[in-house]
This record gives sequence, structure tokens and C-alpha cells, in this order.
Amino acid sequence: MARRRDLLKGLVTLPLAGGIAGHALAMPEQARDFERDYFKELGVRTFINAAGTYTALTASLPHPEVIKAINYAALQFVKLEELQDRVGERIAELLKCEAAMVTSGAASAITLGTAAVLTGGDPQKVERIPNDLTGMKSEVIIQKSHRVGYDHAIRNCGIKLIEVETKGEMEAAINAQTAMMWFYNNNNPVGKIRDEEFVAIGRRYGVPTFNDCAADVPPVENLWKYTKMGFDLVCFSGGKGLRGPQSAGLLLGKKDLISAARKNAPPNGNSIGRGMKVNKEEVLGMLVALEIYLAKDHQQDWALWEKQVKLINDAAVSVPGVKTEMHVPEIANHVPSIRIRWDAGKIQATPDEVRNQLRNGHPSIETVGGAESVDMTTWMMIPGEERIVAKRLKEVLSAAVKK
Ligand SMILES: *Cc1c(COP(=O)(O)O)cnc(C)c1O
Repeated sequence: MARRRDLLKGLVTLPLAGGIAGHALAMPEQARDFERDYFKELGVRTFINAAGTYTALTASLPHPEVIKAINYAALQFVKLEELQDRVGERIAELLKCEAAMVTSGAASAITLGTAAVLTGGDPQKVERIPNDLTGMKSEVIIQKSHRVGYDHAIRNCGIKLIEVETKGEMEAAINAQTAMMWFYNNNNPVGKIRDEEFVAIGRRYGVPTFNDCAADVPPVENLWKYTKMGFDLVCFSGGKGLRGPQSAGLLLGKKDLISAARKNAPPNGNSIGRGMKVNKEEVLGMLVALEIYLAKDHQQDWALWEKQVKLINDAAVSVPGVKTEMHVPEIANHVPSIRIRWDAGKIQATPDEVRNQLRNGHPSIETVGGAESVDMTTWMMIPGEERIVAKRLKEVLSAAVKK
């Protein structure tokens, strides 16, 4: 830990790196020793991630210590159930909740959590979902403003989503068929029913509540905030801000529900979760990633990201006609970010064209944004890469300045 931190500090003070020195930095420590360059052999291009934790861009790089844990686990057999038991206990202790399990991403945590409330872990019910819900509840209540593509993971269990807007509508919607109430943490500010009130309604009517916090660290406190608030189930992605294995996730919550969720998952073959296997390497890697995340100096991370974003900002605004906005999204991806726009009368390139030029340059740089802007974050960069990004951005924008 200390070593890595010192390394980061050292890199930050480097002068603006030229192409070659910069590219060496782009190779993560853990990938440098390999004899074969597999991605190159395949013709798959690697890039500097100025976008953030996007699944399509493989989201995050695991900490070197996580890779060590994965390599350790790969060399010996254990019983999967026993490993999940022990890792779950340890995670619950670290995150101050009743119980926990490692899932195959936050998306599988949503399906397994839903399956847990439907079946209660009853083996016959576990076998029957999603196409025979006889003897099970069949509705999940969701605020209209909390609908998001990820709620497909709830529907995987064969239930019907009931959309409501107000507290009154929610209370009227609760009936004998109500299995669960689902909450999308990022949309807390836009829903008519806020988190604490949502939990209180669930409690009053005896309906379990689930909060999807997949992309909601930092801040680190969110890892226990919502179970403490009273949500019965909470999930996080393992491979976003936590920088664990990309396909791992966390399901946290009540002991009986976590136990029931486990019955719906491997090694149980006749279950909805059988295709959501988490191998021993990732179960262990997830725990180690959490340990590292909890022990790290979050303020130092934040200061580094702010400095990196500022560097990119200064390079961008040095080009006439460019306007930037440095901002921090309120809940999901709550990290220093930058939005870059320009006066179309002064710079002759669309944001798409600039994104493509960054992508097709050397090294390749991936960014996000829409028709109006190029958007970036630096938290998924290898420290030092921000200098290459700043330099390339300035080059691309400058070249498009109208003469
Ligand atoms: C990313 C995300 C998910 C899915 O997480 P995975 O770990 O990739 O399965 C679910 N819900 C929300 C809100 C997310 O942002």
C-alpha cells in the first residue's frame, strides 16, 4: 500500500511526459513482465481510459494486490461454499452489515436478491423461478423515476414491476403480492420518495427494500450507509470504484436474505443464478480489493484526481474558444470530472470528431460525452497518463482552430 502510494506521488511530479515515456507509463505494472503481448497478437488495441468505469471499456484495472490474490487462488482447490461462507463473514464485518456475499457483478446481485425474497431459499421455489411463481409473491414496486435498464435483472425472476410516483401511490400499490420495493440510489434526488422515507414505508408494511448502489463509491461510507439506514439488501459493483475483479459484485444485507440468495446461486445447479458463477479467484479477489479500498487514503486519491483534471482543464482552455466545466456528479461516479465544449465558430470539429481523433491517435484515448461535449474523468487512468491526455487534447483542438 505505502509503496504504491509513494509511487503515485512520484509520478505526479513528473514533467509533462513525451510520447515514449508516457506510453511506458500506460502499461500497468502487473502487465509489464509478460513475454507475450496477447492483445497485440489479437489485434486488440489498448487505450488510456479517460472515460471512467464503463463495462464496454472493461471498467477498471484491479489493484496489483488483487491480481496476486487471484494468482494465489488459482493454484489450489477449495470448497466454493466454504470460501463464500468465510469471505462473506469477513466482508460483513468490514462493511458493518449482517451478512454479505460475492456475486457476479451488481447485476447478478439484483437478480439473486430478488430471487432471495421470492423463494426464501425454499429448494422447490428456487427450482421453479422464473416461470412458475405459484405460492410466491409476484410484484416489485419501483418509482417511475428510478426505472433504469439494470432493472431487467429484477425482471429476470419473472416478476412484474409496478411503477409508482408518490408516497400515496406506493402505499396503495402494496398488497399481498408485493415481494419487494426496489430503489436506484443514483436517482434519490429525483424521486418523490427519498431513501429514508422509502425504507420507513417498507418497514411499516413489512416489505423488503433493495438499494442499487452499484456505482456509488466513493465516498467509502456509502458501503455501510444504506444497510445502516435500513435497506434489507444493498448491492455494489466490485469492478467499478472498488477496483476488484471486473465481473464481481457485492450483495449486502439481512442474514436470512443473503442465505436465501446463496441458495439461488452456484454451486446449486438448478437455480436462476447458475449462469452467474463467481470463481474462487474472484471471490478472494473481491475481499482483497475491499480490504485495500478501506485502508487507502481517500483524500489523497481525491487530491490527485483534482490535480489531474485541472491539468487537462488548463491544456484545454489554452486553446481559444474552448470552455470547460469541472464538476463532481452527485451520487454515481462521484469523482472530479471535466466537460469540454467549444465555440463552433472558432473550432472546426464536432465533439464526435475530437473523440475519434483521440481514439485513433497514439496512444489511443477513450473519452465519453454526447453531441455537445467531450467528457472525461481521470480516476481510471494510470497516474501520469493525464499528461498525455492533456497534450493530445490540446493538439487535436488546436489543429481544428479556424484560421
Ligand atoms: C454498473 C451498474 C450495474 C451493473 O453492475 P455490474 O457490476 O457491471 O454487474 C447495476 N446498476 C447500476 C446502477 C450500475 O451503475
